[in-house]
Amino acid sequence: MNAKTAASDRDLAKQVRAGDRAALARAITLVESKKAEHRERAQELLKALLPATGNAVRVGITGVPGVGKSTTIDALGTYLTGKGHSVAVLAVDPSSVRTGGSILGDKTRMQRLANDPRAFIRPSPAAGTLGGVAGRTRETMLLCEAAGYNVVMVETVGAGQSEVAVSEMTDSFVALMLPGAGDELQGMKKGLLELADVVAVNKADGDNRPRAKAAAGALKAALHLIAGSAGGDEAPVLTYSALTGEGIEALWQAVLDHRTKLERGGRLAEKRRAQQVRWMWTLIDERFRARLRSDAAIRSKLRSLEVAVAAGKLPPALAADEIADILKL
Ligand code: GDP
Repeated sequence: MNAKTAASDRDLAKQVRAGDRAALARAITLVESKKAEHRERAQELLKALLPATGNAVRVGITGVPGVGKSTTIDALGTYLTGKGHSVAVLAVDPSSVRTGGSILGDKTRMQRLANDPRAFIRPSPAAGTLGGVAGRTRETMLLCEAAGYNVVMVETVGAGQSEVAVSEMTDSFVALMLPGAGDELQGMKKGLLELADVVAVNKADGDNRPRAKAAAGALKAALHLIAGSAGGDEAPVLTYSALTGEGIEALWQAVLDHRTKLERGGRLAEKRRAQQVRWMWTLIDERFRARLRSDAAIRSKLRSLEVAVAAGKLPPALAADEIADILKL
């Protein structure tokens, strides 16, 4: 990196810290870039800004398409900016990995918040692996914190791995649910409830109220079973309406209560430290796999091993041994 670039990146860091939105957007573009030279600059920038990070309430929000994620974030975000908070909305959209385009974090889906000077909305980075997308979002979250946003909401859709990725970068993970104790609940994954710190049934308005209550009841019973078997805390279940705003305040209170519980006894700091370390290992694993694939001989060996394993001709452990031998592990 030449001296001029380094100096202008130092200015960029200052501007980000001063809360300059255009600078923040530029910094995020740098962080999202795949060019090696940009990656290097992005890491320097993040290092410089690190002392100014960590001060936000980090909230993950998930739910199937149509559950009301964008309506909820719009309502919750507007409620929070009304209370004087600055809110950043980010997304981890697994579909962006395939399509190169992101639905989540689309500003047109959050009309009020998109026009709110105290809010900053950034769609999911597109392309790359889920780990890559999650990594960029993680770094963007740090930039937003450095820029003074004290609430960061990270949105994702109900799709296994992306939910794990978002729960791994946030303090509190909120699972949004649809009313109705029937099919939706049967199709619900136990894994999601295990990740959730707060469970909230949306659309508890008009005729939907009784169905929302029924869903909440069934969810409480399911969570009770899960907590019983794991010996953990039971996530609270509440009903609300993103459309009317009824229960939005209680939803936020539930997030804060969870956070207070974590903060007691230093568990929040511990959780974040553990997340950092697991993230480091994720990056090492990714690098390691990339290294494997970058070697033509190993790549072709891997392909033939895959075929043999898939055909039942070679036990997976022996295939792994062969690769370990090549690597002298
Ligand atoms: P997303 O796909 O999870 O982001 O869901 P959206 O926020 O786009 O909402 C999907 C649909 O549900 C839209 O037609 C919303 O107007 C509607 N919706 C969202 N929240 C509520 C709510 O609290 N009550 C009712 N009745 N409809 C809602």
